[in-house]
Formats: sequence, C-alpha cells, structure tokens
Amino acid sequence: MTDALTDTSTAEPPLADLVASRLRDIPDFPEPGVVFKDVTPLLADGPAFSAVVRDIADRRRGSVDLVAGIEARGFIFGAAVAHELGIGFVPVRKAGKLPGRTRGVSYDLEYGSATIEIHEDSFVGGERVLVIDDVLATGGTAAATCELLEGSDAEVVAVETVVELAFLHGRSRLEGRDTHTLYVVGGD
Ligand code: AMP
Repeated sequence: MTDALTDTSTAEPPLADLVASRLRDIPDFPEPGVVFKDVTPLLADGPAFSAVVRDIADRRRGSVDLVAGIEARGFIFGAAVAHELGIGFVPVRKAGKLPGRTRGVSYDLEYGSATIEIHEDSFVGGERVLVIDDVLATGGTAAATCELLEGSDAEVVAVETVVELAFLHGRSRLEGRDTHTLYVVGGD
C-alpha cells in the first residue's frame, strides 16, 4: 500500500504544486475580466526557477538544436533552458522590435490581431527547435510561432509552457504537436 507521502510513482505533481504555489493571480490585468498569471514570484525563487528550467531541459536534452522564446516571459524561461542545454536562443518578438530584416506572421486575437517576427536569418533550415512561453492561453501565439518557424524551414520539435489555462483550449490550436505544460489550470 502506498500513501501520498511515500508514493514516488508520479514525478510531476510536486513540480506542478511548486509552480502553482509560486504564481500570483492579478485580476483585471491587462484589461477587465482577465486574470493575469504572474510568474515573477516563481522567477524570484531561485530553487523553484531552477527546478522548472531543469525539468524542461531534461525532457528535451539531445532532441533540440535551438530554443525559440516568445516575448516577453518566454525569453526568460527560454534563455535559461537554452543555457542549461548549451544551445542557442532565438527571440520571437512583437512587430517592430527586432533591428534586422525580419519575417513575420499575423494572427487573430480575441479582439483584433497581432504580429510576431523573427530575424529572417534565424534559421538556415532543418534546425530542431523547442518553443517556450510562460503561459498557454488561447494558443494563438504559440500556434503562430510554430507556423512562423516552419515557414522558415525550421522543425518545431515541441512546445513547452510553464502554465496552461485549459479552459481556453489553447492545446487544440497545437493538435498533433508535442506540447507539455508543468502546471495546468482548470480544464473540463
Ligand atoms: P495566447 O492567448 O495563448 O496567444 O496567449 C498570448 C500571450 O499572452 C502568451 O505569450 C501568454 O504569455 C500571455 N497571456 C495570455 N493570457 C495570459 C494570462 N491570463 N496570464 C498571463 N499571461 C497571459
């Protein structure tokens, strides 16, 4: 017989619990009705931040050549994972932020649209890429990122997020892709 304290068969729940305990809900940010999942307490906790980075890196070690991080918090987790793996990092930025020649893709938001960009020489083709962001919400940004990278002849191996808002069904936008989240909020 196992009990909750001695059962070590499930490796993920403790890390999910740790992430959950280091998130802060900010109601009505950036607009009324949105509950913003603030990861700054997680980032400020060295062991917790390190555990998240190591978990992602260990899952993808040897299977990716580059990390692509989505602006802005995807830069923080993505760069740390890239460093842990000893591989390069590619920033996926909002329109107009990158200094060099870019290629971009526009996608629909709940209201209006957005454009994300990469430097047009970010990939030579065939690189195996891990996409990282902090929160998977509607999935539009992650899906557009995959489209942008694949349009540049990179191979998207997986999408990793720290938090997933399951009630927004973002995962359905990434169907058929290897998608992993450390802490899933809500769901059916
Ligand atoms: P998505 O709706 O999946 O395209 O999310 C768009 C971007 O906004 C992602 O990069 C997330 O980091 C961020 N985002 C969306 N909703 C939230 C939320 N409730 N809390 C924190 N970040 C969010």
